[in-house]
Amino acid sequence: MGKAMIIGAGGVANVVVHKCCQNPDVFEEILIASRTLARCDAIRDSVASWTRTRVATAHLDADNVEETVALIRAFRPDIVINVALPYQDLAIMDACLATRTHYLDTANYEPRDEAKFEYKWQWAYRERFEQEGITAVLGSGFDPGVSGVFCAWAQKHHFDEIHEIDILDANAGDHGYPFATNFNPEINIREITAKGSYIQDGTWVETEPLEVKKVYDFPQIGPKDIYLLHHEELESLAVNIPGVRRIRFWMTFSEKYITHLRVLENVGMTSIVPIEFRGLQVAPIEFLKAVLPDPASLGPRTKGKTNIGCLIRGVKDGKPRDYYVYNVCDHESAYAEVGSQAISYTTGVPAMIGAMMVLTGKWLRPGVHNVEEFDPDPFMEQLIRQGLPWIEDFSPVPVD
Ligand code: NDP
Repeated sequence: MGKAMIIGAGGVANVVVHKCCQNPDVFEEILIASRTLARCDAIRDSVASWTRTRVATAHLDADNVEETVALIRAFRPDIVINVALPYQDLAIMDACLATRTHYLDTANYEPRDEAKFEYKWQWAYRERFEQEGITAVLGSGFDPGVSGVFCAWAQKHHFDEIHEIDILDANAGDHGYPFATNFNPEINIREITAKGSYIQDGTWVETEPLEVKKVYDFPQIGPKDIYLLHHEELESLAVNIPGVRRIRFWMTFSEKYITHLRVLENVGMTSIVPIEFRGLQVAPIEFLKAVLPDPASLGPRTKGKTNIGCLIRGVKDGKPRDYYVYNVCDHESAYAEVGSQAISYTTGVPAMIGAMMVLTGKWLRPGVHNVEEFDPDPFMEQLIRQGLPWIEDFSPVPVD
């Protein structure tokens, strides 16, 4: 049915490739293109013995628009799945515009020199994508991604009006290291050390980093400390869920993790501002990334589960309603299936499903769109089929 070019060859890309290859009727041919060709080849080799999908690899520096345009022209994909880093988003969108190719990503654009993520840069491409008749699906990972689809599903099937959304992201996985991040350390630490924020009655309320902490008792995981963070889907859900009054994002961190992070922050190791060291300009966070365990190496060591979902409060048929929809993913099962832990799995599976929605025509709408703008039903059906089944609870415990 279609051809996909997958940019990036990290933990998430590995899952996207495995999942595309499990669906060869939709993904007849894929190209894995990234900065380090050997990593692309290793992923290709890991699926070669069992898939009907034709898999090729190529070297690509996706910061270079002309190089990306040339590769797209040579391979002629129907869609580009961007699972490199958020820094590449705009360059890859430019290449998609130049070649009239559909686009999908899992994280919104961040400038390299400023730890700030907002949709304004990518939303600014909306008219140009409309004019070229191509679709961009933004944020099709788990959160953002499934979190937005869960909200659209709740809006469509369970509420007349949604008033409050709490996105709850719990990782109870244990990899045995005192400190490691589950996905790209630079992106992860930039996100966590930034100020927290939430939306209340149409305005942003800012908090100090990790200032707001509560405890939540997660199904299948148990009680965990949760911290309020700024997160990109707050911005798009505030626009796309009419009538919503409050949206918050919570993530679990252990005491051990927070202690390590505070020390690293206090000594300046999480800074993105380059310092001169032996004649070189080095951003401390980039050096820290180099000494921390590679997230891709955590797969075989990680045990336990993730639980990510949305707690939603609103009104149905004139009565107040609380509703919780979530997925539980097991690190060891994910690793056994695709060779990556659950954080990469829960991101890569929805990225493949989003691309499947575009290739099968279910989510084709010229312009630049967040996932909650599309019909959630076919996506929710595929979550069950593709390894991320979801559970609904109509009498959940609220966050407070
Ligand atoms: P990794 O760091 O493991 O992989 C990133 C890959 O991108 C690497 O292979 C890297 O190449 C490649 N890359 C970096 N720069 C370039 C470039 N200029 N040109 C081509 N390739 C490049 O990250 P993850 O797989 O963990 O994460 C991938 C994406 O998924 C990130 O954007 C992350 O923010 C997002 N994410 C989204 C989540 C969600 O739920 N929405 C959750 C988790 C992650 P090299 O191998 O040379 O380093």
